[in-house]
Amino acid sequence: MTDRFAVGTEMMNVADALARLEERLSPAVAVEDARLHDALGRVLAEDVVSAVNVPPHDNSAVDGWAFCRADLPADGVLPVVGRVAAGHPLGRPLPEGGAVRIFTGAPMPEGADTVAMQEDCQDRGESVALPIRLAEGDNARSAGEDISRGTVVLHAGTRLRPQELGVAAATGRSSLRVYRPLKAAVFSTGDEIRDPGTELPPGCIYDTNRFTASGLLRALGAEVTDLGILPDRFETIKAALAEAAETHQMILTSGGVSVGDEDHVKPAVLAQGSLDFWRLAIKPGRPVALGEVAGTPFVGLPGNPVAVMVTFMLIARPMVLRLMGAARTDLTRYPVEAGFAFRHKPGRREYLRARLAHMDGRLVAAKFPSDGSGVLTSMTWSDGLVDIPEDRGDIAPGEMVDFLSYADMMR
Ligand code: AMP
Ligand code: MG
Repeated sequence: MTDRFAVGTEMMNVADALARLEERLSPAVAVEDARLHDALGRVLAEDVVSAVNVPPHDNSAVDGWAFCRADLPADGVLPVVGRVAAGHPLGRPLPEGGAVRIFTGAPMPEGADTVAMQEDCQDRGESVALPIRLAEGDNARSAGEDISRGTVVLHAGTRLRPQELGVAAATGRSSLRVYRPLKAAVFSTGDEIRDPGTELPPGCIYDTNRFTASGLLRALGAEVTDLGILPDRFETIKAALAEAAETHQMILTSGGVSVGDEDHVKPAVLAQGSLDFWRLAIKPGRPVALGEVAGTPFVGLPGNPVAVMVTFMLIARPMVLRLMGAARTDLTRYPVEAGFAFRHKPGRREYLRARLAHMDGRLVAAKFPSDGSGVLTSMTWSDGLVDIPEDRGDIAPGEMVDFLSYADMMR
């Protein structure tokens, strides 16, 4: 594969990068059956077709009396001929001109089509006075109203949320065919990087990237192996990458991917695999390295802690989702009002760390004062990113901008 973006001034834009990912990556994980409780957060690997109607039978939506609307006399009084509770059908058709006491979820007796709420009725023991303004079908739910037998209720590629588990259960399924979690290996690189909890020698800095990157991966449902910190040494990095590639379906590193003398990740990948692209026209965040090590997808994020998170959310996230079998990787763009002025030179796409607030019924984005890509507290301060497209000029307060939510990017 070529490394056209590795050198020179050519930069790749985000849309092109994502399109390339879409076309190149397919699910890297095997499929298994999971019990519903264990399927939360997993990606569905089958289309689920309902074998039943939901609800399975016509039933009452309220507590009251069920009857046939056409039988209702002018005074609204009908004899009460039986009682049906949820789970206990009447077992015979409703006699003509009769009403039955009924409770929410109880099956409608054959011949009954309408239910009167008990609050609107007068219980007279042997008979009941019903409101005559009711229309046929009021307060009754039809079989199959939610799901009709034979329809696809869940599609392959869906990340399973509680409501998807509920729908699967409603159709009688106790387990689902799902993709196995993606096994991802995470490294930090740099001679100056130290583990928190250890002493910090002069010139060193604690590792943040392994924790943010692993957290982001786990939030997406990946199984992370934390492989620690690699020194700035070509041979060591090369060997570590080779070993990780054998037992993982994705490798993620941070640092060591620019063009400085101490940036050894790129040559270590190229020595045993390939790199697809390299200089991404985004701020914060370039460079990002994408490729493979002995066939295992590789993503090399920049070293700066904010750039790690931003490039993960924009580039690694869709990549991970794709490898996990997810069908959708797009993000909702929320239009919000800029509560700030910003000078933007067209050409590079910029992502501003922003916090949202309601002002007189409008949703207004405040921008973090510093744009430094090492200022990680900007990420704890903000709710998401304002996306400034390549071709946009300066932003004046009050202009509309697109906002991407961290909450959306972490699921
Ligand atoms: P690099 O891309 O390796 O040149 O790193 C760019 C900047 O990010 C340098 O200031 C590094 O010290 C810093 N950096 C790299 N990796 C980490 C890390 N894991 N945790 C915190 N800072 C890092
Ligand atoms: Mg470094």
